Amino acid sequence: MSCFWSDIVHRLTPYFPGEQTESADVVKLNTNENPYGPSPRVFDALRAGIDDSLRLYPDPASTRLREAIARRHDVTPTQVFVGNGSDEVLAHTFRALLMQSAPVLFPDITYSFYPVYCKLFGAKYKEIPLGEAFQIDVDAYFQDNGGIIFPNPNAPTGRGLAVSEIERLLKSNTESVVVIDEAYVDFGCQSVVPLVHVYPQLLVTHTLSKSHALAGLRVGYAIGHPDLVAALDRVKNSFNSYPLDRLAQSAAIAAIEDREHLQATCGKIVASRTALGTALQDLGLEVLPSDANFVLVRHPERDAAELSARLRERNVIVRHFRKPPRIAPFIRVTVGTDAQCEELIAALRKILK
Ligand SMILES: *Cc1c(COP(=O)(O)O)cnc(C)c1O
Repeated sequence: MSCFWSDIVHRLTPYFPGEQTESADVVKLNTNENPYGPSPRVFDALRAGIDDSLRLYPDPASTRLREAIARRHDVTPTQVFVGNGSDEVLAHTFRALLMQSAPVLFPDITYSFYPVYCKLFGAKYKEIPLGEAFQIDVDAYFQDNGGIIFPNPNAPTGRGLAVSEIERLLKSNTESVVVIDEAYVDFGCQSVVPLVHVYPQLLVTHTLSKSHALAGLRVGYAIGHPDLVAALDRVKNSFNSYPLDRLAQSAAIAAIEDREHLQATCGKIVASRTALGTALQDLGLEVLPSDANFVLVRHPERDAAELSARLRERNVIVRHFRKPPRIAPFIRVTVGTDAQCEELIAALRKILK
């Protein structure tokens, strides 16, 4: 605590990211990174970008990248906003669209950055409890609000919501923005991006960090009505004109254009998710159904914090959330390669013996 801090800094509770390590003997299954690495075309684009042009500022509007995203999703570049990771896109979204007189609504168990942004910007929010089976009940959102946001599939539960349910929400919620965070959509959910042509209040966010295996590059984007994008642009240009460097812009284009690589690697992860779920159940763990590249699991008797610590001793890192209380009995495990999943299972078998 310093007397030099501004008032708001004293009151912040920052987001707490999972442990990052590059140690080779660690099985890192804690931050939902993709074990297969990005498209080889990304490396070519990066190599091609290493020249004198780095003395110049990048295109502040990321025009070529926005065009590539627009082609990929069948929208116009005016419907696309890009940022330094989708976390930055989300931050601008809270600032530009979700600070209203009524509270923004999101699930009580969800991406823990949402309340952090609310506190940073002073936005009001209300947490809506997930149902008995950790599902999002759309009817619970039919109330006065200054915006609605949730991931689909939700994190850290992995549960997906049908497009028809999201459309039902959009039909009744027309006076405030609905943000669907599709960080994990490529692992088994249907995207609602096509609905942006029908619902001007819908904003959909994506990231290259998970399915495109580019967490280290920091690129995310949002798709929505040009009016929503214009609001995001105003905030971005009042904060940082150049959020994406030259290398990030060209590497992101290469990644987005390699659809085969995306499909092949996501397909492998989905297959491993099924195998991992079965192996965990065989060890006596309860596994929530997942549409994402992670599973949320619980042992009927063993304490989750303790399990997570024992796994860490064996160089397997998973994620445990202490709060809210309903999530505390679970650990979240990222789906790695089959070899990594086998190491996790072997470690768990020893711990549970
Ligand atoms: C990982 C994640 C993000 C952030 O992605 P970045 O692009 O790496 O900032 C956003 N939302 C959810 C739900 C996530 O899990």
